Amino acid sequence: MRDWIKLEQQYFMDTGHRRLGITVVRGEGVTVWDETGREYLDFIAGWAACSLGHCHPVIVNALEEQGGRLILAGYDVYTIPQIELAELLASASGLDKVFFCNSGAEANEGAVKLARKYGKLHLKGAYDVISALRGFHGRTLAMVAATGKPESHKYFTPLPEGFTHVPFDDVPALRAAAKEQTCAILLEPIQGEGGVRIPDDAYLKEVRRLCDERGLLLILDEVQTGCGRTGTLWGHEQFDVKPDIMTLGKGLGGGVPIGAILVNERAACFGPGDHGSTFGGNALCTAVAAAVFRYILAEDLSGNAARMGAYFRERLWDLQGKYEAVKEVRGRGLLVALEFHVPIALPFAQACRELGLLTNPLPPHTIRFMPPLTIRPHDVDRAIEIVEAAIKRTTSQDSS
Ligand code: PLP
Repeated sequence: MRDWIKLEQQYFMDTGHRRLGITVVRGEGVTVWDETGREYLDFIAGWAACSLGHCHPVIVNALEEQGGRLILAGYDVYTIPQIELAELLASASGLDKVFFCNSGAEANEGAVKLARKYGKLHLKGAYDVISALRGFHGRTLAMVAATGKPESHKYFTPLPEGFTHVPFDDVPALRAAAKEQTCAILLEPIQGEGGVRIPDDAYLKEVRRLCDERGLLLILDEVQTGCGRTGTLWGHEQFDVKPDIMTLGKGLGGGVPIGAILVNERAACFGPGDHGSTFGGNALCTAVAAAVFRYILAEDLSGNAARMGAYFRERLWDLQGKYEAVKEVRGRGLLVALEFHVPIALPFAQACRELGLLTNPLPPHTIRFMPPLTIRPHDVDRAIEIVEAAIKRTTSQDSS
């Protein structure tokens, strides 16, 4: 067998952490297999993108059907899957217009461009976007600037200007930061990469109020929280607010690359030539995303995420009562974090992998779980068995 890890080290730029150290060759449902045939329960699911699990028949059929008919036709013509997906998303979100691109970062870039144009047209040239510390919006240059992790800026300066950061879940800080040059506020409803941070129930309503008072646009980055992940179709439903702009990615495509910007009439100020993308809205990915989205609605996968997430968190909290190392459990739906008192995220995730469960370490203290929205109670039970064994192995504490 070829040594895939050595070959990657030879040919691939060293950007991936590859913290789990296995080569995955096949997936079905919530299970993946490595090249030796070993099986793992996958609670990473392509960083929350594989919303229906791996190689779901709905996705495979849509790929086969659309792949044999039309893959990409270009921007000068209309294509039906794109229009159908736009209609589906608009009616499910209450927003009015959609633009398709290829990733979450690209969706956020487009949203910021749109907000800047809005600022030029309606806010006397205001251009600044306020976002939150510990937020994450992607890895393009402007999204590195928008992302509130100053430590990830240092090698990439000069970054695009016009981004201001404030602490998350802090209304006075946001009010103080909103100035004449502010055109929009960009936030995740729940910070995902930042460790599954859930704001106070009133926070987003206060942000909405501020935006309404000042005429600013509220951009909610639902790349991770959208499409059922947090137990409702959209994360913002849980906070009883509506954005002017919502960005999507990840779970929308169930594993194929797609991003989307959804906007209300007020914000829909792009005109011909303002924005575009060669692959954005291609027939193949939009057909798959439409099939995925219809399945999420028809099977009420948001409801399943809510129920399975509640069960999973309850079982994780039981472990907190048994093992000193476990500090807390956070999450909504199937976006779940387990935090330790001690910096064992990496060895813990490696122990889980050895025992047959893939988890996402956010070192030093936190583990994130983002399983497919289709999981069942027996998947949760199996994951809990492994998590408990991995805690024992990593902390050398037996349950008390
Ligand atoms: N926004 C959020 C909230 C994300 O979690 C991510 C990815 O993790 C992104 C944007 C970037 O998405 P992509 O990796 O598809 O560019």
